[in-house]
Amino acid sequence: MNPQVSAFKLLPSVDKLLQKKSLADVIEVLGHDVVKLKVRAAIDQMRNAIAANDLSVIEQLESPSFIESLCVKIADDLNQESASTLVSVFNLTGTVIHTNLGRARMPKEAVLAMSAAASQATNLEFDLETGKRGDRDSHLEKCLCEMTGAEAATVVNNNAAAVVIVLNSLALQKEVLISRGELVEIGGAFRIPDVMKSASCILKEVGTTNRTHLRDFSDAITESTGLIMKVHTSNYEIRGFTKSVSETELSELSRQTKIPFVSDLGSGTLVDLRQYGLPYEPTVKDTLDAGADLVMFSGDKLLGGPQAGIIVGKRELVEKIKRNPLKRALRIDKVTLAGLVEVINLYKDPRRLSKRLPILKDLTRPLSDINALAERVLPLFESILEGQAAVSVEECKSQIGSGALPLDLLESRAIAIRPVADRAGKDAFLTSLSLQFRRLPKPVVGRLHDGALIFDLRCLYDEEGFVNQLENLKTV
Ligand SMILES: *Cc1c(COP(=O)(O)O)cnc(C)c1O
Repeated sequence: MNPQVSAFKLLPSVDKLLQKKSLADVIEVLGHDVVKLKVRAAIDQMRNAIAANDLSVIEQLESPSFIESLCVKIADDLNQESASTLVSVFNLTGTVIHTNLGRARMPKEAVLAMSAAASQATNLEFDLETGKRGDRDSHLEKCLCEMTGAEAATVVNNNAAAVVIVLNSLALQKEVLISRGELVEIGGAFRIPDVMKSASCILKEVGTTNRTHLRDFSDAITESTGLIMKVHTSNYEIRGFTKSVSETELSELSRQTKIPFVSDLGSGTLVDLRQYGLPYEPTVKDTLDAGADLVMFSGDKLLGGPQAGIIVGKRELVEKIKRNPLKRALRIDKVTLAGLVEVINLYKDPRRLSKRLPILKDLTRPLSDINALAERVLPLFESILEGQAAVSVEECKSQIGSGALPLDLLESRAIAIRPVADRAGKDAFLTSLSLQFRRLPKPVVGRLHDGALIFDLRCLYDEEGFVNQLENLKTV
């Protein structure tokens, strides 16, 4: 018989393939219809290939294992197509709170609470005593107030939202005074002048980039002033001939003029980090004690919790924010809230915090620990890259990240990969090597710096998982 004709006869039917055991799992997970479409497309493709006299397909059809391998391939393709593109990665960038890598890892207490809140009904906005409508902020307000000395608290989606809603609630169509030294860009679209516009406020810059005095603020106050604001310069520092106006001075001015004074702390922390050997970062309580009427800070920066924006301070002002229709648009969801409550509860016992809160554990990890880990994994890197690159354990500095303490770096250790001296196309080699690390089952993200691929091991804990998958790179 003509091979083309016999090949058409060998083509399996859709129903026959759908009966195969190797497709049973994907049918169970994705449903019959999805798999059927894919199977039909595969058969159509083969039919077209035969019609085009594609001999390779004709040969394949004659192989006894053909149907089985076709089903396995269809199942693999379907699994891959339906897999989430959001995956866990190893953050070996050296930036502990890495915004693009999802910032803080959550403590297990928070993860459990989040899972429970996600899978069950909760009393999110329901008062169990009265049986009437409750307030979602109530679950956090008490402990936030206890910890910071604030009168009231409310929580929104993130700190950017906190800033927007504070501005919009307290200074709509009014001028907001802010020092020229604090016109921060946090990254991408979050720039103070733009935020002012989107909150329908008028930015009134005072002072100069390096020096701003109290009189710059007091001279700028007019009928149209709605708010005095301070923004923590989280990702830079102005050094040299500088002067900024302290919170105490601004709050004094605020009291005299009856214009509220608010402070965007950015990262913000509830405890004095010096007790863990870290540099000082103003705490929320310090800022309120200095007289700020409201303080805004992030949930997922130094606090170490889920993405959220927390606003604490004067009750009257917090109430105004809660009445703003934007509050509904920016409110925190139940899963985040459940996690945040647990994270804040951990702060009640600061002495155990560095063991229980992953962010603090990362930031305070002993250098000897990181160094020992580096020495243990070094030989594996060496064997993988033998002849192609020199690998060594190097001193490096980790950054806290996300705008916290930009100039304070933590002593750490890295695996550094440098292409061998006589190698041509070193940059291309390093770029391609870093791509291969990012294509591992659990992607490994490092950084390219000074002609080397650097993996800072500060945030690596799952040593076994890490080492096991490196075997995949043996073929580089
Ligand atoms: C990070 C930061 C923000 C934005 O906070 P998100 O939680 O990322 O929305 C706002 N202001 C300052 C000063 C910051 O550092």
